[in-house]
Amino acid sequence: MHRLLLATRNSHKTREFAQILGEGFSVHDLSEAARLSVVEETGLTFEANAILKAVEASEHFDELIVADDSGLEVDALAGAPGIYSARYAGVHATGAANIAKLFAELARCDPGPHSARFRCALALAQRGKVLGTFEGTVEGTIVNPPRGSAGFGYDPVFQPRGFDQTFGELPAAEKNRISHRARAIRLLRAALGSPGLIEPGRLRAS
Ligand code: IMP
Repeated sequence: MHRLLLATRNSHKTREFAQILGEGFSVHDLSEAARLSVVEETGLTFEANAILKAVEASEHFDELIVADDSGLEVDALAGAPGIYSARYAGVHATGAANIAKLFAELARCDPGPHSARFRCALALAQRGKVLGTFEGTVEGTIVNPPRGSAGFGYDPVFQPRGFDQTFGELPAAEKNRISHRARAIRLLRAALGSPGLIEPGRLRAS
């Protein structure tokens, strides 16, 4: 059993990681590490922010750390909300507030359909060193009004290409098969299984 510590307090992300990685991994997050301050996401890319979060957490724990930075890019908004997805409508904004702001911005654009993608960058770090980064995207369109209550964030307004349900309507297993996070995690999982990237013994058995 490989133990991974996720540098997040977002329980939705942690659940998706555990489901996507499946058996053989025990996934934990920082929800009980109250003494750790929240890392300021000052990077200009998803990858830079994932690295910031992974490296910072890896200074405090010996085990392998994975950080996820992710968000929604809408083409009509020149890629916004992008790296600001979580705080689009302000710091600590709810998913509903962020969606309301998205609709307000799109109301000023040409009528839809509005193409968009979710992007996820993962960084793997240990003891202050980056061991690898991995990226996944899923293409789709923005729907208005929102549909479905599964998932989190922008899920109810994102309809992946080739589907007629939003991420808010699709069963978790289906989202976790095709999502940006699933694609990035599959690359991570392959790297964890490849002898070149991780020195023997670095993956901790629990
Ligand atoms: P982060 O925690 O700084 O990476 O912010 C990610 C933000 O992007 C989340 O708060 C959501 O608003 C959005 N986001 C990322 N992944 C997803 C997803 O799978 N579904 C819906 N929204 C997502």
